[in-house]
Amino acid sequence: MEIKIIKKQNPTLKPGEEYGFGRVFTDHMFVMDYDSENGWHDARIVPFDRISIHPASTVLHYGAEIFEGLKAYRRADGGVQLFRPIENIRRMNNSAERLCLPQIDEDMAMDILTTFISHEKEWTPSDPGTTLYIRPFMYGNDEQLGVHAVKHATFMIIASPTGSYYKQGFQPVRIMIEDTDVRAVRGGTGYAKCGGNYAASTRAGEKAEQQGYSQVLWLDGVEHKYVEEVGAMNVMFKINGEIVTPALTGSILPGVTRKSCVEALKKEGYTVNERLLSIDELAEAMKNGTLEEAWGCGTAAVISPIGELCYKGVKYAINDGKIGPVTQHLYDKLTGIQWGRVEDEFGWTYPID
Ligand SMILES: *Cc1c(COP(=O)(O)O)cnc(C)c1O
Repeated sequence: MEIKIIKKQNPTLKPGEEYGFGRVFTDHMFVMDYDSENGWHDARIVPFDRISIHPASTVLHYGAEIFEGLKAYRRADGGVQLFRPIENIRRMNNSAERLCLPQIDEDMAMDILTTFISHEKEWTPSDPGTTLYIRPFMYGNDEQLGVHAVKHATFMIIASPTGSYYKQGFQPVRIMIEDTDVRAVRGGTGYAKCGGNYAASTRAGEKAEQQGYSQVLWLDGVEHKYVEEVGAMNVMFKINGEIVTPALTGSILPGVTRKSCVEALKKEGYTVNERLLSIDELAEAMKNGTLEEAWGCGTAAVISPIGELCYKGVKYAINDGKIGPVTQHLYDKLTGIQWGRVEDEFGWTYPID
């Protein structure tokens, strides 16, 4: 596929730590249009700018939107690399299928992603912990109010230089177990990375923050019984020597970081089980002290140690509120591979140059 490039002049680069998250964008964006007669067409890299959208556009009324999130990492030798980008592309197509948005051929999507990132790679900051965050997204764009699978869609990629997630150091967070709102239900869109899931989860997140917690731990949408995710991260526990993470039942987002943790731990000989974990089992493990460690995992934080869980007003400290050894090890191992400091025995890294 031919990608047309319209260049903007004078990049305005700054040191990495000044960026924060998602506020500054690179000078260009990728855009490509779809219609059911012509398929994907007009692939282009153009100066970053506002977009114009029809007031009846599907995305504005019925939430036909999916996205991905991955990062470009600056290695010590100055090169830039991605982490398992093919996993993001496959997941995007699974999300698209669920929301009746069009598929993008895997090879074409990889070609687009790598061409765009090569074009913007000088924006990848080099200070410790900083990255270029990459946000591909797709939305339905029929210009009429009827509810159908769309005949028109737009695919875009934007990129945002991002400061370190752990500016104040790698620290445990406090999590509140949410027993009223739910994020997703089986049969719904929980496994798809779509904006609508975030719209549904914002209220509980705000409530938790007002009470001094950084995220909520979600329970399943049918029985409020099984542990699902923590905020916008997957969640793992070490209970009596066993590593447990909720099984992918359909309401849980299949994270690339989750998959990488499971694969790395299994290779090192840990017992890792993807299974149902009820809140009663977890509460019992918190009470009797067999809950040894808990952490969230996702691209943004990589690993987020959980130091305290609050359930029905009762607070439980985990590992005395300190970072556990498996949590620390996973953080060191994954970030080591991502920044090219640790040998990539899995073939997960994808050099851009
Ligand atoms: C993106 C996301 C994750 C983490 O997925 P990664 O691929 O590891 O970044 C977990 N849960 C939700 C709800 C997400 O949107």
